[in-house]
Amino acid sequence: MSLRLVKDTSAAIGVLDLQGGVCEHLDHLERLGITGRRVKQEDDFNNLAGLIIPGGESTCLARLLNTFGLTEVIRQNYQRGMKIWGTCAGAILLAEKVINDEPCLGLIDIEIERNSFGSQLDSFTAEAIMPEVAAESVPLTFIRAPKILRAGKNVKILLKMDDYIAAAENENILVTVFHPELTGCLALHRYFAQKCGIKFTGSVSGSVDSRWQSHSWTRLARIV
Ligand code: GLN
Repeated sequence: MSLRLVKDTSAAIGVLDLQGGVCEHLDHLERLGITGRRVKQEDDFNNLAGLIIPGGESTCLARLLNTFGLTEVIRQNYQRGMKIWGTCAGAILLAEKVINDEPCLGLIDIEIERNSFGSQLDSFTAEAIMPEVAAESVPLTFIRAPKILRAGKNVKILLKMDDYIAAAENENILVTVFHPELTGCLALHRYFAQKCGIKFTGSVSGSVDSRWQSHSWTRLARIV
């Protein structure tokens, strides 16, 4: 990838840092030259243009959100215009309807089914064309993923596969049931940044950062 970007540096994107794949998203934001920020408490939300809710375990994340009183904080920041992207467990938290479960944030009109492909052993990779997101095909990593079974009329489907929806969005929310942060592809992060109003200029050819390695994120890991 030859990625040379100059961007508006005034905006930051937060990654909810309670549980799950936090460093992997921070790594991708850094590769795009975007200011990324770990978000753990109310003050961390100040002036965020966007929030990424990472993959992990949605039951655990929902419990931590409620324990730390962050469910309401996220809703308030969403009301003031903060965009939100949920990957996998994050998408489950954002859904208005969760099959056989209570919704958590309920901010996008989708119906989602947890663990819909089976167990962890049924995890898989694939690739697909997402015309709105990238010119070339996007690698997809599904880990004990949910399926989006239905999207409301105000929700745009960005990727449909077999009998399920893998990516969708409304004006303020993006949901993907796969994990772009576990590949070298930066296209979804760039797409979300643009949704957050971050402007890229300069030349972008291709979306895959060839310097990315599966363990790249570990340099950002820290014990807290
Ligand atoms: N199966 C998990 C859940 O239901 C999601 C897995 C993931 O985020 N990769 O929360």
